[in-house]
Amino acid sequence: MPALGIYVQVPFCQTKCTYCNFHTGVVSSAKFAPYADAVSSEIRNHAELYVDAGVQIADALAGMTVDSVYIGGGTPSLLDPEHIGHMLRAMRETFSWTGTADGPAARNCVEITLEADPETIDAAKAAAWVASGVNRVSFGLQSFNDKELIAAGRMHRRADIYRAVAILRETGIRNISVDLIAGLAHQTAQTWRQSLDELASLQPEHVSVYLLEIDEGSRLGLEVLKGGSRYSARDIPSEDDMAAFYEMAQEHLRDTGYHHYEISNWAKPGYESRHNLKYWRREPYLGFGAGAHSFVAGNRWANAHDAADYVKALEQSRLPVAEHTVLTTESALEEELFLGLRQLDGIDAAKIERDYSVQLSSRFDPLAKQGLLERHGDVVRLAPAKLSVSNEVFVELLR
Ligand code: SF4
Repeated sequence: MPALGIYVQVPFCQTKCTYCNFHTGVVSSAKFAPYADAVSSEIRNHAELYVDAGVQIADALAGMTVDSVYIGGGTPSLLDPEHIGHMLRAMRETFSWTGTADGPAARNCVEITLEADPETIDAAKAAAWVASGVNRVSFGLQSFNDKELIAAGRMHRRADIYRAVAILRETGIRNISVDLIAGLAHQTAQTWRQSLDELASLQPEHVSVYLLEIDEGSRLGLEVLKGGSRYSARDIPSEDDMAAFYEMAQEHLRDTGYHHYEISNWAKPGYESRHNLKYWRREPYLGFGAGAHSFVAGNRWANAHDAADYVKALEQSRLPVAEHTVLTTESALEEELFLGLRQLDGIDAAKIERDYSVQLSSRFDPLAKQGLLERHGDVVRLAPAKLSVSNEVFVELLR
């Protein structure tokens, strides 16, 4: 039986980054405690709340133990550490934890990640996170270049990154993940190389590299789409430059000892994100909080995004489910392909053909002929040289 992952969404930030297309908001810190209470209540009462909301997964959940927790956002490190501890306590008291007993040894059986922004970290907070069981911190660094960080509307500067990593290491965090964005305004091949070099000097255990997304969901995206100049919209690197930056990252990270295991993710051996692997492998996870998504036994559902509405609903012992889908066989098969192929090891095509009683060669062969996919026996994977155009490959594959 696969182990269960738990995701908690904390949809609060200090400001809105110009490129951000997430459902997050800037709210008074007075809202943090009621939000943590609502999430804890959702965790403790999930079984009854799901029944009332028409999500039938009790049998599938029976006997599962939790082996990963991811507290993401937003900026969860803005919360008082007591709020983080409160939510983790609710999980421990509600679910069986993978491991043999309570205490530090059992805690290490569960990967517990907290997303953090560098400027929000101090030694007391970091110590409190570790005391409550956090053993992995994921940093939204995005760049080591202050001009790029300022244009992106980030609150931290290069110096904050070094200060925060030193605090975490001193506190005993042995698993640090960092994110970079290829495509920020003012980025050049030279500044990108500099960010990659500085990242390598910090030796994080895990690295994610994302390409800047331009869409109507962000202030920057809207400005680019209408041809304006606010938010340094005219200083965004071209798509070709972004693809070249991604390829530079591939080479640089490989040469500095990282294993490329998913389109956007690299890890030192043994430090692949246990939690995020569940998304690509279609393993079960429960999401708690406003806008959080869950997946168990073919059911995908998501809570409503508005944090105030979410808190109000939980105070009334009601779960505000905004979407709930029971996947059809065809949708599940498509997920197997476009989620599974994000992993560089590829997918076991023969197993998928057996599980779904289908033949996939008519989908794979044309893409293999174009050099976009590779087939080695039962394993099909994206061609390593085509990862920067993976979205186009997925569109073709699902056509
Ligand atoms: S910190 Fe992250 S979630 Fe918050 S506004 Fe910036 S990009 Fe969005």
